[in-house]
Amino acid sequence: MCIHIFLTDGLPGLAVWDPDEVGIRVARDAPVSEVLREVRDILMIDLGAPASLGGPLRCFCGMPVELPDQLLPYALAAEAS
Ligand SMILES: [Zn+2]
Repeated sequence: MCIHIFLTDGLPGLAVWDPDEVGIRVARDAPVSEVLREVRDILMIDLGAPASLGGPLRCFCGMPVELPDQLLPYALAAEAS
């Protein structure tokens, strides 16, 4: 089962790993570039996903992680830079 990304209101931080949902909750109103960096750190450091510097975020199984539509344009821009 692959990791999902959820947008959530009222989160105590930028991004939080939720083992019950097999997903990472991200703050809806946080700066997207910071959220994506935090999500990548959680994936790579906490969950042992393959390194994805400069590429798409990856699940621990190696598949690209699907991002909510709200994050997608920013993720693509970040990859291009
Ligand atoms: Zn997976």
